[in-house]
Amino acid sequence: MSTITYKCPSCAAPLTYDGKSQKMECGSCGNAFDVDTVRQIARIEQEDGQYENMSWDARDEAFTPEEAARTRLFSCSSCGAELFTDETTVATNCAFCGSPSVIPAQFTLETKPQEIIPFQIEKAQAEQMFHDYFKNRKLIPNLFLTSRNVIDEIRQLYVPYWLFDCDADGRMTYRGTRILTSRSGNYRVTTTQHYLIRRSGTLSFRKLPVDASTLIDNKITESIEPFNTEQSLVFAPETLSGAQANRADVDAQTSQDRANQRVKTSTLDAFRQTVSGYSSVIPQSASINLRNATSVPVLYPIWQITTKKGGNTYTFAINGQTGELTCNIPWSKAKFFGRLFGMAGMAAAIGIAAMYALSSLGVIK
Ligand SMILES: [Zn+2]
Ligand SMILES: [Zn+2]
Repeated sequence: MSTITYKCPSCAAPLTYDGKSQKMECGSCGNAFDVDTVRQIARIEQEDGQYENMSWDARDEAFTPEEAARTRLFSCSSCGAELFTDETTVATNCAFCGSPSVIPAQFTLETKPQEIIPFQIEKAQAEQMFHDYFKNRKLIPNLFLTSRNVIDEIRQLYVPYWLFDCDADGRMTYRGTRILTSRSGNYRVTTTQHYLIRRSGTLSFRKLPVDASTLIDNKITESIEPFNTEQSLVFAPETLSGAQANRADVDAQTSQDRANQRVKTSTLDAFRQTVSGYSSVIPQSASINLRNATSVPVLYPIWQITTKKGGNTYTFAINGQTGELTCNIPWSKAKFFGRLFGMAGMAAAIGIAAMYALSSLGVIK
């Protein structure tokens, strides 16, 4: 035998070769296995371990000097937001916090949005949506129902996102057991069958958005998703006309880590659902290999509305394209704390690769 330590497929303790039986024996659980089976399992696990690859091709381009000349960058000395707009738009207030203390900033836009979704919802419509929100709401505090709700500020803002596209090839292994009981005279015989279950397949993710602004609560951006990416335009400074965009301050790498989290969670869930009919299932290994993985910086439109009640400021966010509304008024049915992944098209094609049955027998009185 080589110096590789083989692990017991049922309990993971080290196996030792028994010359007499010509089997690999486990001193911990008492099972014995064919040498070939054990080798095969070890090979699968080694292959799957080298399979993982979750790297992305980020389209992180800087503004060209010509584009930079047509763009104005400024920062808010009140909230710290960094904002930009085209050269013809005069920014007197911060689109983020409403403060008038905006000052021009040195041009440093490394990440240029590739696409932008223009506003479909006009200011008057957004205001109407705010007022309509309070109609027929039984669950909101009386405070909002007994007196008129007045818009304190309404701001038009483009929010930066990174959009992720990929095909995720997954390879998963699970340890499963099936327990069968039968009677034999005065004994009850329990047979535990051990399985190594393998799954492989592909999940495609299209236009998975990850918020690229640290200033906006992810709960807000996620609650007003999804955006319809079919209406995207190629970005140019002029497409911002009249509105301000928040500069992306979450870099490609950090966004990729979050995208990987989402891809991983969705893939593991989808694969796990295909493993059924066992008494117990324990995930053993999971590897994901991404193909056609690209991330693209984009700008999406939102209206931010604030209103003051009883000494507090409440924020409303409206998807500037679809009109989806969210707010942080408590006890409402607003989806403020909902999580809505704008995950389109989970084309799942999950194939069953192989199943290796490892059986053992245990007898209890
Ligand atoms: Zn064992
Ligand atoms: Zn501000």
